[in-house]
Amino acid sequence: MFEILRKSLATGIVTKPFPLGPDSPGSSFGRGRPQMDFANWKDARPGAEACPTGALAVTESQGRRTVTLDLGKCTFCGLCAEADSSITMTRICELAARRRQDLITTAVYELNPGGTQNRLLELTPDVGALVTLGPKTEAPCAELRSAIHRVLRRSLHIRHVDAGSCNGCEVEIVGLNSPVYDIERFGIHFVASPRHADMLLVTGPVSRNMELALRKTYEATPEPRLVVAVGACGCSGGIFGENYATVGSVDKVIPVDVYVPGCPPNPQALLRGILTAIGKIPDRPPVSRRDSR
Ligand code: SF4
Repeated sequence: MFEILRKSLATGIVTKPFPLGPDSPGSSFGRGRPQMDFANWKDARPGAEACPTGALAVTESQGRRTVTLDLGKCTFCGLCAEADSSITMTRICELAARRRQDLITTAVYELNPGGTQNRLLELTPDVGALVTLGPKTEAPCAELRSAIHRVLRRSLHIRHVDAGSCNGCEVEIVGLNSPVYDIERFGIHFVASPRHADMLLVTGPVSRNMELALRKTYEATPEPRLVVAVGACGCSGGIFGENYATVGSVDKVIPVDVYVPGCPPNPQALLRGILTAIGKIPDRPPVSRRDSR
């Protein structure tokens, strides 16, 4: 007992300051998103050929090459960077987006006769389009808690739904309740029933066996309800895509408010996505005693 107390006091506070201050993923964090210098990129073909998910793809027509980087499909595997030295893997993991199309960057190039890229003609949007924490979510914990209370009249309750995940995302979700991320300091709690939830945190490429269950879970969640699609599978179907066993992305079954890319997204990326979603709940007028839940 005294030994445990001694260790606890010696360890001190381990909770990360995120999102109150700048933070970087821990040293054990592997890779974040790939980064390309679109303006000076000479040949996107080797990276696209190596990409197992189609996140990096090229199409050609009339002397032009269109290169698409879809972070919603990207598993951060790094194979494109191994095939093309001009691609680098970063440690950028906070990539939550409110719209699916904000995860997609498209570059159009004029081609040289040999097939390499001569010059960039168009670039639609790069990381600038990705959601950054707005004024509401940059607020200190107490303000965040009061924002949640103002909108929901109580704490934010999350029901996690595994719609066919490999459980990689689940391991990271468990990290949210650890002392390091301590999601409860924001007044955010995980609950066992969708009837008690304000938000569904959905993982996995929705398996056909889980499609109806996910739809029913959504319908059982009282309004205003939010849905956060977690990981490459939740955003796009990931490596599984759409097949005899899986429907694909979560938004093929229920409306999604925020997409959190990654394979799996680490707790920091998940927290960013959840806080981004809270900023999306519209303020509602005061509720009467009869209306309140
Ligand atoms: S990191 Fe992997 S999944 Fe992502 S674009 Fe590169 S090869 Fe494709």
